[in-house]
Amino acid sequence: MFYTEKRDGFARLGVLELEEKIRTPAMLEGKSLEKFDFGKAPYAVKKLFPDVYERLKPKGDVAILTGISTMMPKEINDAFSELRGTRAIFAVACATPLNVSTLIYLGADLVDNLMAIAKAYRGIYFFGDFEISVEKLERFPCNCEHCKQQKIKELKKEDVYEIVAKHNSEVLRQEVEKCRILIAEENLRNYVEAKSKLSPELTALLRFTDFEMQNCFPRFRKSTLYFTSQESANRFEVRYFFQRALECYEPRTKALLLLPCTARKPYLASKTHRAIRSAVKVNVNEIIISSPLVVPREFELLYPAVNYDTPVTGHWSEEEIDFVAKWLRKFVEKEEFEKIVAHVEGGYRKVVERALKDFEVVFTAEEGILSESSLKKLKKELEGYESFDLFAEMFTHASRYQFGIEVNGVAKGKYPEIELIRRERIARFDLRYGNLDVYGEFAKEILRSGNYVVKIADFEPSSTIFCAGIEKADEKIRPNDVVVFYNSQLYGVGIARMHGKEMVEAEKGVAIEVRRKSRF
Ligand SMILES: [Zn+2]
Repeated sequence: MFYTEKRDGFARLGVLELEEKIRTPAMLEGKSLEKFDFGKAPYAVKKLFPDVYERLKPKGDVAILTGISTMMPKEINDAFSELRGTRAIFAVACATPLNVSTLIYLGADLVDNLMAIAKAYRGIYFFGDFEISVEKLERFPCNCEHCKQQKIKELKKEDVYEIVAKHNSEVLRQEVEKCRILIAEENLRNYVEAKSKLSPELTALLRFTDFEMQNCFPRFRKSTLYFTSQESANRFEVRYFFQRALECYEPRTKALLLLPCTARKPYLASKTHRAIRSAVKVNVNEIIISSPLVVPREFELLYPAVNYDTPVTGHWSEEEIDFVAKWLRKFVEKEEFEKIVAHVEGGYRKVVERALKDFEVVFTAEEGILSESSLKKLKKELEGYESFDLFAEMFTHASRYQFGIEVNGVAKGKYPEIELIRRERIARFDLRYGNLDVYGEFAKEILRSGNYVVKIADFEPSSTIFCAGIEKADEKIRPNDVVVFYNSQLYGVGIARMHGKEMVEAEKGVAIEVRRKSRF
């Protein structure tokens, strides 16, 4: 029996119940491998000779994936796609410190140290991510209990291989342990992207995997999104943000102001944006240009806009300008603005010029966006526009984005700690996750809409709702989503730990962490 405790994309923290409980992802070794049937044919045989594979395939409760080290990136991606489900996946005899985080990212719950040992007996020593021939070493560079920095020439050859095998297994075990922590921290993706830069094959594998947009990927997460590679813009959260923000964007004013991004997030809490606002009364819609994000101000408290980091060098590549310009244009086209003011310079200006070449755009920045003359010019261009309740719009846009409903109220508070009030607080922004947390009447409106709603059996939930207690769940639900659960007596707000379909299908596992509940 296998069950999930926390999901992050295809990766998950789980428990495999054999004779003892194994917390996954895990590296298995020695006797624990005897409990599995590995079958007589590697997985690759399935494609060429499906009938043969059917007869020779492994049996048991765990999905066994053999032969990965002989497969091409696309085949590996396809094999994981076929095997994903409620069973644990065991990627057999292929894990190394370099590839294991990617295997786990793809959905491997179990790996073993067979490749680590096989490499050891071929004289290959794991030096972090790198593999080095043991013959090139004078002494073991590691101080683990097996290596102890011993001089290699003074050891017998068979002892050297045994030490390398134990050391290699230890390095791999640590790497698997690291992945467990990274999943708990919701930060595995940044790590996998960085690792993929050490191997074209891993990069190819990641690119194939990014084509798959499945419900197990969260929209909101607590880790900072790093735009450090070409693959970063392919991340699910980024693609979702662009699509969803574009669907939900409803500008209100006749004029539009374009601004550059800031290092500090949310942008409005930055010195630069505050300085602009203290000099100029901004009563119009704003879109903030970053790379690769484009963020209408209304969405700046949502993930990933609220929590990302991108390298700023002042140099914009042609691809970067193209990508950002394409999205900027789509957002601008949502409304027929009478006036577009761009308070930008350098690469940001290039983006605006490319995106809006057939629009009339007033550029107001000269010699720095905070210079006296720039701000004076900007002030003049923005004068005369009627007032616009930005904070209320932030809540309206976030509720549309997150729950697909329109919820109104009065927005109050000191930015970014703002709340939506109707008699009492009904929503606030959770800045850690970059989404809305909801209370009382807001939760009831979600309940009426049926979006992000979970029906549970008639029991009094405590801090965790397990899959066994789930009767129905909206299939739109993704891990980390704020959900509203209910039964005949009560309703409450919680955080999904898996996707909606999985909550219903899995017999066991953590479905929802409860934040609050009330009686009807
Ligand atoms: Zn060692």
